[in-house]
Amino acid sequence: MGRSLRARLSLTTALAVLLTVALISLLANLLISRRFENYVMRQQSVRTADIVENVLHHFDGLTWDTEALHAAGMYALYDGYIVKVSDREGRPVWDAENHDMTLCHQVMDEISQRMEKYRPSGGRFVTRDYPLQRDGLPVGTASIGYYGPYFLSENDFQFLSALNEILISVGLFAMAVAFVVGGLLARRLARPITKTVAITQQIAEGNYAIRFEERTKTRELSELVAAVNHLSVALRRQETLRKRLTADVAHELRTPLAAVGAHLEAMLEGVWEPTAARLQSCHEEIRRLGTLVQDLECLAQIDSENTHLDLAPVNLLEAARSAGENFSAALRNKRLTLTVEGAPVVVRADRDRLGQVMTNLLSNAVKYTPEQGHIRLVTADLGTQGALSVEDTGPGIPDASLPLLFERLYRADQSRARETGGAGIGLAIVKSIVDAHQGAVTVESRLGQGSRFTVTLPKLEL
Ligand code: ADP
Repeated sequence: MGRSLRARLSLTTALAVLLTVALISLLANLLISRRFENYVMRQQSVRTADIVENVLHHFDGLTWDTEALHAAGMYALYDGYIVKVSDREGRPVWDAENHDMTLCHQVMDEISQRMEKYRPSGGRFVTRDYPLQRDGLPVGTASIGYYGPYFLSENDFQFLSALNEILISVGLFAMAVAFVVGGLLARRLARPITKTVAITQQIAEGNYAIRFEERTKTRELSELVAAVNHLSVALRRQETLRKRLTADVAHELRTPLAAVGAHLEAMLEGVWEPTAARLQSCHEEIRRLGTLVQDLECLAQIDSENTHLDLAPVNLLEAARSAGENFSAALRNKRLTLTVEGAPVVVRADRDRLGQVMTNLLSNAVKYTPEQGHIRLVTADLGTQGALSVEDTGPGIPDASLPLLFERLYRADQSRARETGGAGIGLAIVKSIVDAHQGAVTVESRLGQGSRFTVTLPKLEL
C-alpha cells in the first residue's frame, strides 16, 4: 500500500527544511568565524603598534621611566601580550617574564587552552621584535610575544559561542515551524484526494446524487473536484437513459403485442369474424414489431462495429449526390424536390457507415416533410472539418425535444403515433456512427418551417 500522501509530504518538507537549515547554519558559522578572525587579526596588529608607541612614550631621550613601563607592560600582559624592552645596547630595561614568570605562564596557558578548544590544529607562541626610534635615531627594541597567528580573548570567545547558540536556536525554531507548516500543507493537499477516493467509491456503488463540495484554491485539485462531479453527473445521465431505454422498449413491445393478443383472442372466441382486414391489421402489428427488433439489432451491431472503421477519403458532395439518387423513387412518390449543392470537401470516413448516416437523415426528411416540400443537401468546407447538412421544409421539431433527439427510442412525437416513422432509433444510429468518426451531429429547427441536421467530420489530413 505504501506510505500515505500526507505522511510522505510532511516528511519531504521536513527533510528539505532540515537540510536547508543545517546548510545555512553551517555556512553562516563558517563565514562569520572567518570574518571575525580577520577582524581579530587586524585588532591585534593595531594593539601591538599601540604597545610599541606606548613604550616609546616612557623614554625621555636619556632615561627610561621604568615605573610607567612596568604599568604598561602589566596592562599588556593581562591582554595576552608579553612585552620585553631593551635599550640601544641590548640591555634589558623591563621584561615581563623576569618580572612575574608565573603570571606570564598562567596568561599564556589560559590562551593556549582556549585556542586549543577553538582551533585544535591551531597556532603557537610567537615573538616579534619592533625597533624603537625617536627622532629617526634607534633607542632600543621592544619584543612582543603572543599566541599567533591570532588569539581570542575571553570576551571574543563568549561572543562566538553566543552567535552559535543563536544560530542553533533559529535553526530549531525554523524546523518546528517547518514541521507545523508542512503538516498543514500536507493535510490540505491530501484531504481532497482522500475525499475523492471516498466519493468515487460511493459513485461506484451507484450513489450518483453525491456531490463533491470541496473548496480548494489549488488548480489541479479544483479540476479533480470538477472531474469527479462531472463523472457522477454523466453516470447518472447514463443510468437514467438506460432505465428509460428499457422502459421504452417494454412500452414499444407491449402496445402492439396487446393489440395483436386481443384481436386474436376475440377471433378465437368467435366474438370477431376473422376477416381479411383484421388479419391484415394483426400482420401489420407483427411486422412493426419485427422492424423494431431489427432496428435494435442494427443499433447494437453498429455500436459494436464502430470500434473498427474502414477509414478512407470520401468526397462529401459526391456521397450526398449518390445518396440523393437512392431516394429518387420515394421523392417522386411524395412529390418532393431535392437539390444537392456545396463544396467538394474530402473527409476521412467509412464509406458504408457514412452512407447509412445519409440514408437515415434523408429518410427522416422524406418521412416528415409533407407533399410538395423541398429537401436540400449542402456540403461545406470548415477548415479542419467538412460538413453536410440535410434541410427540409417539414413540420420542425419542438425546442424541448432538440437535446433528446439523438437518444435511443426518442421520438419528438410523444404520442408515438405509429403512422409516422419508426421507433426512434434512426438518429441514435447517426450519432453513434458520427461519434465513432470523431465528428459531431447537430440539429436546428423551427416549428412549421423545417429542420436542418448537420454532420461535421474531420477532413483528410494531407
Ligand atoms: P424515427 O424512427 O422515429 O424516425 P429517429 O431517431 O430517426 O426515429 O427520429 C427521432 C424523432 O425525431 C422522430 O420521431 C421525429 O419526431 C423527429 N425527427 C427526426 N427527423 C425529423 C425531421 N426531419 N423533421 C421533423 N422531425 C424529425
